[in-house]
Amino acid sequence: KKDIGKVEPDFLKCFQFAKKLLPSTWIVIRIDGCHFHRFSDVHEFVKPNDEQALNLMNSCALAVVKEFQDTVFSYGISDEYSFVLSKNSQFYQRRASEIVSVVVSFFTSMYTMKWTDFFPQRELKYPPYFDGRAVCYPSSEILRDYLAWRQVDCHINNQYNTCFWQLVKSGKSKSEAQNFLKGTQAGDKDKLLKQFGIDYNKLPLMFRQGSSTFLDKGDIITVNKNESSVENSQKKVIVEHCNIIEPSFWCAHPAILN
Ligand code: ATP
Ligand code: ATP
Ligand code: MG
Ligand code: MG
Ligand code: MG
Ligand code: MG
Repeated sequence: KKDIGKVEPDFLKCFQFAKKLLPSTWIVIRIDGCHFHRFSDVHEFVKPNDEQALNLMNSCALAVVKEFQDTVFSYGISDEYSFVLSKNSQFYQRRASEIVSVVVSFFTSMYTMKWTDFFPQRELKYPPYFDGRAVCYPSSEILRDYLAWRQVDCHINNQYNTCFWQLVKSGKSKSEAQNFLKGTQAGDKDKLLKQFGIDYNKLPLMFRQGSSTFLDKGDIITVNKNESSVENSQKKVIVEHCNIIEPSFWCAHPAILN
């Protein structure tokens, strides 16, 4: 019989490996709802964009930004959200599995806790869950390229989905709609939407540009200039639906990626 008391804890711990994220790089934690195609069906999300479902995602992201100090910016579309942690963050000594798991579990808890605030008349039929991953980006330029990629995806998906659901509403089956759109270019989709009487540029900004949730560091109040200059930044988290591909956004918010 094995005597468990003789096994050294240090020996057992040496099997763990701590994957540390590269120092001095922007950390992006991207979470994504698992099987939300089904989840959105079962919970009767409005297609192609359920505004309340997006508001719920934004509200959970806002809670993440408030809870984890090192989150400097976040960007969400559909069932996904990307959280950017500051370059020199020492959160969990930059251990990937801890960071990913706390962000994912906190977000998921929030999603279920806040469900009834956003869907008061709709029962949460089964527990939603999210996956998460960590990626490091070595410069703010590449980080901005990453965010731009997500925003381009938002636009492409939204344009496709808006066409798809218009075709379905007009009487096509889902597979007919899919075949109809196969190989169409952006211009073709724009024309199709015009035929349906939809001006794409007039759709809500949140649907077209996604949501950016971040701490507005604009109002830094110097409490007392004489006494060792105590600065008290007002922690106001805001949600905006803006173009983050254009440099003008980053010029207007220089504190985010400083
Ligand atoms: P996976 O588990 O691989 O992520 P998934 O079913 O979640 O699979 P995604 O590619 O993540 O697939 O896409 C999410 C899907 O969830 C969308 O295709 C859409 O059908 C649905 N969805 C998410 N958010 C909304 C929303 N606000 N309104 C309507 N539908 C939504
Ligand atoms: P960390 O975030 O580092 O894990 P922690 O506060 O969660 O910090 P742990 O070492 O994980 O600390 O210990 C969990 C603590 O939670 C215990 O010390 C105990 O105080 C409390 N706790 C957990 N489960 C129970 C329980 N079933 N009954 C009473 N207290 C509990
Ligand atoms: Mg996924
Ligand atoms: Mg998903
Ligand atoms: Mg997704
Ligand atoms: Mg614990």
